[in-house]
Amino acid sequence: MTKPSAQTTKKLVTLIPGDGVGPECVRATQRIIEASGAPIAWEEQHAGASVFRQGVASGVPQETIESIKRTRVALKGPLETPVGFGEKSANVTLRKLFETYANVRPVREMPNVKTRYSGAGIDLVIVRENVEDLYAGIEHMQTPGVAQCLKIMSRKGCEKIVRLAFELARAEGRKKVHCATKANIMKFTEGLLKKTFEQIAPEYPELESSHIIIDNCAHQLVRTPQQFDVIVTSNMNGDIISDLASGLIGGLGFAPGANLGNEVCIFEAVHGSAPKYAGKNVINPTAVLQSGVMMLRHLDEFAAAQAIEHALLLTLEQGFYTRDVRQEGSLSTSEFADRVIANLGKRSELARVREHRPLKMPKLPAAPDFVHVAKRRTIGADIFLESGLSATELGKSLDKLSQESPLRLKMISNRGTKVYADNGAMTDCVDQWRCRFVLRDGEADLRDETLATHLARVASAHRWMHIEKLQEFDGVAAYSLAQGED
Ligand code: NAP
Repeated sequence: MTKPSAQTTKKLVTLIPGDGVGPECVRATQRIIEASGAPIAWEEQHAGASVFRQGVASGVPQETIESIKRTRVALKGPLETPVGFGEKSANVTLRKLFETYANVRPVREMPNVKTRYSGAGIDLVIVRENVEDLYAGIEHMQTPGVAQCLKIMSRKGCEKIVRLAFELARAEGRKKVHCATKANIMKFTEGLLKKTFEQIAPEYPELESSHIIIDNCAHQLVRTPQQFDVIVTSNMNGDIISDLASGLIGGLGFAPGANLGNEVCIFEAVHGSAPKYAGKNVINPTAVLQSGVMMLRHLDEFAAAQAIEHALLLTLEQGFYTRDVRQEGSLSTSEFADRVIANLGKRSELARVREHRPLKMPKLPAAPDFVHVAKRRTIGADIFLESGLSATELGKSLDKLSQESPLRLKMISNRGTKVYADNGAMTDCVDQWRCRFVLRDGEADLRDETLATHLARVASAHRWMHIEKLQEFDGVAAYSLAQGED
């Protein structure tokens, strides 16, 4: 492990070479950054496969965590998730540990990298929420045959990512921000992102803003990607469309990324460790280099960032490339880096290098209870049961069990579709049932003791695994209806 350079005037960065092709890309980037004269001192640390093999279950040793806490900035090569050494990804651990809530992925057409979109002028950036959504990783097998994954999205999380997207558009002199969601189907989770976007957009009147449904966004990205400027979206949507978008401009060798948080930022390419190329000195270092350029801007080293970006674009314009662009006549990773270094100080006259201003990270209150309501009421509960009975048998049994209870059975749904009382739906039922109980007329608010007594009644005859209260916040229902429920 190298010691940090002595000069105190230099900006300290944690450098994680990573696995597979990581060290080759990271060394090339390190050499180019050093040649640019940017005042960076490196503190080299490890994470990933070698660490898993030492028995550190997270793949990230405490030393690396302490280093990032100290430097607040890391440049990282890809980390392998080795099969058989624990199931957690070291990448996800790092992102979550430091609450890097935004994953910023620029996608732009590169000179002489021929694609079916060449000449269209693709130059967009995807801002992906990075810690919430289905990636919170909260999964349960509810019955032996039915799995559930919780999609968690918060107003605070939405506000942070939306504000960041608008601030990024301002910092990069962009004109438009699209918010891409599946709010038409998931009205509370994805809907929260849409609503937050629409509430915040008027604070940025100089920027055009519009909502687009994520599936149409994918379609539009393939048809006319040049219409997009900034796209803000949730974690899973962003994961998918950012890989799609990198395919439009020549592949993963050209796809950089930044994980931004208010305390720590981690810069890394989108690609993985590409093990089949490890140690062969043939991989394209551009994605890691561009991530390094993003890091320099984050560190206010705008001149060095600009110089490297010009040198990189000029190198491609001069007809130099690595084997992912074309095998014939390709340069090795280190030769390509040498060419970029030789071009430092020269300008690309053809490709546009954006003027960047410092990115203003949104600052929101730290309190967990970010949203307050004046009035709340619980009107019932969904009790999730495991049962091999038919919908009608189960419904009749629950009706009978509820006869003496302040709660009545309103309906039963199976995977979201109402199946009791029978409305003719042709649902192919499985053994996980959502049984919706509501207070009988005249009851004001469901008390916990009433619910506990009711649950005990239900549990006397059926196996339950999950319960969810039906709440109203300021008079608005905070639960979705089943298909077919009214
Ligand atoms: P991958 O490493 O990204 O490689 C997939 C393919 O993409 C490569 O075979 C190669 O395509 C191309 N490619 C990737 N990087 C390139 C570069 N710099 N230059 C040129 N071409 C490049 O994906 P994977 O094989 O699915 O994953 C390998 C390991 O990486 C896994 O353990 C995975 O968990 C990990 N991973 C880590 C990260 C991260 O650290 N952030 C991200 C993704 C995956 P061709 O074969 O067509 O040449």
